[in-house]
Amino acid sequence: MKALLDVHPADWPALFEDMGVAAFHGRNAARWVFQRGAHSWQEMTDLPANLRERLEQEQPLGSAKLVSSSGANDGAEKVLLEMQDGATVEAVGMPGTAGRTICLSTQVGCPVRCSFCASGLDGLGRNLTQGEILEQALWLQRQQGAFHRVVIMGMGEAGFNLDAVLGALDVLMDSTGFGMSARRITLSTVGPKGALQRIAKWGRPVTLALSLHATTDALRQELLPGVSKRGIVETLDEAEQLFAANGREYTIEYVLLAGVNDTPDQASELADLLFQRRCHVNLIPYNSVDEMNFERPTDFVMESFAKRLQERGLSVTLRRSLGRQADAACGQLRRRQRPPTSPVTEV
Ligand code: SAH
Repeated sequence: MKALLDVHPADWPALFEDMGVAAFHGRNAARWVFQRGAHSWQEMTDLPANLRERLEQEQPLGSAKLVSSSGANDGAEKVLLEMQDGATVEAVGMPGTAGRTICLSTQVGCPVRCSFCASGLDGLGRNLTQGEILEQALWLQRQQGAFHRVVIMGMGEAGFNLDAVLGALDVLMDSTGFGMSARRITLSTVGPKGALQRIAKWGRPVTLALSLHATTDALRQELLPGVSKRGIVETLDEAEQLFAANGREYTIEYVLLAGVNDTPDQASELADLLFQRRCHVNLIPYNSVDEMNFERPTDFVMESFAKRLQERGLSVTLRRSLGRQADAACGQLRRRQRPPTSPVTEV
C-alpha cells in the first residue's frame, strides 16, 4: 500500500474506504495531521481505538528520525532528518518579521554539483518522495511551531524531481492539506530542460527563483556542471514564459564569488541580460564551505555590484545571510555529521 503522505489528503477518504474504513475517518485523519500537527495516531482521540492500533501498524506516522539539529543566534534552526532507508536530508526553519519560513530539501545529495555548494559534493543519492518532502514540513512544524512561508531551497535540484515536488506543493496549498497560499511558496531551481515549461503547465502561482550565478554560458557551465547544455538566454526566456503563464514575477539568484562573477563588467552584463525581464535580483553572499576555495567578496564589492544593477533600473536585494552559524549553506550540516565515505586525498 502507498504511504499515506504520498497520497493527496483529498484522496484519504477514498484510501480509507479501500481499507474498509469509513471515508469520514480519512478526512478527519488529514485534519489531524496537517492542521492540528498530530504526530501519532494515538493523539487522534476521535478515531476508534482499534483503527488507531491498525494504522499504527500499517501507516506509521513520523517515520523520519532526527539525527541532529544546529541553531544560530539569529534564530535559524537546521535539522538533519534520517529517512527510513538511512538517507539523511536537511531542513531549516528561519524566523522573520512576517512569520517563520521553512526551507525543504528535494533530493538526497544533488546531481548538479555546483562548484560552490556543499549539497552536490557526493553527487545524487536519490530523489525524495512527496511524503518525505512533506515530512520535513511536519517535523519543523512540530519542533518550531507554525510556518508562514516555504522555500524549496534545501538540498537537491527540484527540477529533476518535479513529480514529488509539485505533488508536495499541491498538498501544502490545498485546503485539505496545509492550506497555504501559493504566494507564500518559492521554488528554487537551476532550470533544467523542460522544468520551467512543466511548472508553467502546472499553473500554480508559486514564485520561481532561478539560480543563474553567471553572465556567460561558459562560466555558468563551469559553476553549474549538471546543467551544462542549457543556455542562459534560453533559460531566461523560459522564465518569462512561466511569468506569462502564472503572472508571478520571478527572482534571479546570483551567488557572489570573489574574483569569479563579481566585477563591474559582470554587473553590466547581468543588467543587459535582464533588461525588460519581469524579475527581481537576489544577490547572495557566498557562504563559506569547508571543502571549497571560493571567497565572499568584500562588502564594498557586493554593494557596488548591487548599485550598478539598481542604476540600470533593476530591483535588487543583497541577501542578509540567515543561519550562518546553523551550518546553513545547503548540505553543510549533513557533511559535518557524516564525513564523505571516500576520503579526500591530497595530491
Ligand atoms: N537546487 C536549487 C536550490 C539550491 S539552494 C537551486 O540551485 O536553485 C538555494 C540557493 O543557494 C541557490 O541559488 C544556490 O546556488 C545557493 N547556494 C548554494 N550553495 C551556496 C553557498 N555556499 N553560498 C551561497 N549560496 C549558495
